Parts: sequence; C-alpha cells; structure tokens
Amino acid sequence: MSRFINDKYATLDAYTPGEQPQDKKYIKLNTNESPYPPSPETIKAVSEAEVSSLNLYSDPVCKELKDAIAKRYNLDTKNIFVSNGSDDILNFAFMAFGKKVAFPDITYGFYSVFASLHGCEERVVPLREDFSLCADDYLKNDSMVVIANPNAPTGMILPVDNIEKIAKCNPDYVVLVDEAYIDFGGESALSLVKKYDNLLVVRTFSKSYSLAGARLGYAMGNENLISDLEKIKYSTNPYSINRLSSRAGVAAMESCKYYMEKCALVADAREYTSSELKKLGFVVLPSYANFVFAKKDGLDGQKFYLELKDRGVLVRHFTSERIKDFNRITIGTRKQMEKFIEITKDILRSENI
Ligand code: PMP
Repeated sequence: MSRFINDKYATLDAYTPGEQPQDKKYIKLNTNESPYPPSPETIKAVSEAEVSSLNLYSDPVCKELKDAIAKRYNLDTKNIFVSNGSDDILNFAFMAFGKKVAFPDITYGFYSVFASLHGCEERVVPLREDFSLCADDYLKNDSMVVIANPNAPTGMILPVDNIEKIAKCNPDYVVLVDEAYIDFGGESALSLVKKYDNLLVVRTFSKSYSLAGARLGYAMGNENLISDLEKIKYSTNPYSINRLSSRAGVAAMESCKYYMEKCALVADAREYTSSELKKLGFVVLPSYANFVFAKKDGLDGQKFYLELKDRGVLVRHFTSERIKDFNRITIGTRKQMEKFIEITKDILRSENI
C-alpha cells in the first residue's frame, strides 16, 4: 500500500476472486462458469466487421442490447440496465441505494466488500442451521436488502412468495435479488418487478449464457431505479460495455434456446453429482444452481480441495468458520463430473475414509 491511498480505503478488505490458472490445465470447477462454449450465433456475431469498428466508442445507451433483453423478458427497455458484469451492477446498486444493507451471513462474499467500499452499515443476518433463509428476519427492516437467489455458495433457493413478502414489507427500501444462477433452477422474482417499485432483479451473462469472459450483466426493475443506476454509470464509466460484448449479448438473447438446453444438461449433471456424492457419504445441500456445496465427516474441507487440485481438479474452498468443512463444486459436463467422482473416490481410498 502506498502512503497516498485515501484513509477510507486503507483498511478495505478486497474481494478474492477464484483462481484463474493461466498455465496448468485443470478440470475447472471453481468459478461457476459454463462448461459449454457460446452459441454458434453468438460466436458469429463477434464478427471481423465488428472488430474493425473498434476505433469507435460503443453505444453508451446500449439500446440494442437492452431491447434484446426487454424482448426476451417481456419488459420495456426503460426497465433494463446493463453494465460490465453483474459485479459492476451490484457495485452501482450499493453505491446508489445502500445506506444500511442487510444480507445473510453465508452468501456472495462481494456484498460485504461493496458495503465497506461505500461506507454502508451492514446488517448480517445468520441463515438457519440448515442454511435456509428465514424471510421473517427481513420483514422489520430499516435497510436495503440483498438476497442471492439461488444463494451462493449454498445453491439453496428462497420461494418467490417469500421474496414478495420481503419486498412488500419494505416499501421504503430497495430489495435486490441477485439471480446470477436462476436459469439453473428455482422461480424468478421477475414477475414482481412491475408490481413493486423497490424490487431490483440482477442477472448475468456469465453463467447460463456462457459469456463470463465478455463481462455482461443486466438488471430489471422500475424505471426510476434504473435511471438511478444510469446516473451512477454515467458518473463513472459511460462506455462500460464494449462493442464486442454488446454484440455477443444481443446474439445470446436471440439464441436463448441453445443456452436453456445447456442449462438443462448442467441441471442433469448436478443431480448426478449430488447423488454420487451422497452415495459416498457426503452431505450435499439441495442446489438449484450450477454448483453443489458439499462436505464429508472426517474429510477436512481444505485438505479435500488441495487433494483435488493435486490431481488436476479445481474447486472452491472458503475459509470462514461456518463453512470451512465444505467445498463448492461447479457443475461441468457429465464427463467432467464422472471424472470428478472417480478422483474423489481415489482420494477417499487413499485417506482411508
Ligand atoms: N452474483 C453472484 C451470486 C455470483 O456468484 C457472481 C459470480 N462471482 C456474481 C454475482 C458476479 O458475476 P459477474 O460479475 O460475472 O456477472
């Protein structure tokens, strides 16, 4: 750290992204990417002609991309916000709406980083013993609420009537539902955005649309919420989406059938993985996402992560006390998951468990 950093950032604990190894080839099950490439239409959309136009700035309004999203979800373009990955949008939302922010103790680790970054007071609400979320904990509230649904890293879902209850009971606060994983299972809160002007649904192209490297996120909500986010975007980086990603995003929306078929394959491979892990004595939380969260008595979480890594499989291990025995395993192709199970059996054999 230099001696020039502003005091307010000096003690900031930055988010640690999952490993992105650039050398060794791993079976990469650690950052919830899709194992499938983008659709042929998406690949074609990032054409040579588009590359040749990179001397020109992208459209700051992102009209084409917003129109494509609006069309897909039967909303108006003024209800759509887009930016450079959903992390970018979450950052803007904390900046815009977060004086005080409530979220669960076990959830996406970036929320508490954004809260610190923007000086928001945090209300960290413990999940129940079984890692389910109790909606009643958010009903008498004096703060913005942020809920990942399905939650990460648990994969567990909160029924949409619970989301509605929270939105209804907090008319003076924004309720942000982070649906990064909703295309893999569970019911979306999208149907509620026309009814509740405080409900903001945030999504990403990084998981179900196989575009993690393109950095594209979108949010859907009341037009006044969207215009607040636009104000923040135009006060930081109006061209936050580049020309190539924007083209890819439009084509991805237009070829959504391809992507939804791939999500169904991932959901099948998830069920296979859960049931095989359970047969091996693992506790596996009920996941609606493209990952499972699992632990086994007698098997140290960190050790399992390292043993897998040693054998060429990367998963995600978190060190916080309540979940240190677990690993989050991204669901790849069926073949990758069969290999993962085979390697897990090998580890259990060598550990005599
Ligand atoms: N929300 C959740 C719950 C996530 O797990 C992630 C992925 N790390 C994100 C948002 C951010 O995704 P992206 O910035 O790639 O859109």
